[in-house]
Amino acid sequence: MKSLGVIRKVDELGRVVLPVETRKRLGLEPKDPVEIFVERDRIVLKKYEPVCIFCGSTGDAVIWKDKRVCKRCVEQMKRGADKTYNED
Ligand SMILES: [Zn+2]
Repeated sequence: MKSLGVIRKVDELGRVVLPVETRKRLGLEPKDPVEIFVERDRIVLKKYEPVCIFCGSTGDAVIWKDKRVCKRCVEQMKRGADKTYNED
């Protein structure tokens, strides 16, 4: 992990301003979602990218019952469902 040599204070509402250079480097625009991770004594911020609930890919996906599922997993489920159906 690389230090940017930037120290910022947390404000009364828990907010920290991210340096503009960092936002530009990560392509973060105002209102973009950011995912927050905690790693022992570290807080890690990552530009949020929705992923398939089954395989974690960020590729083409459909939303089914409020869950994101990639087209590859949808195809695998269809084949699995056909196989199960034919076995009955
Ligand atoms: Zn998937």
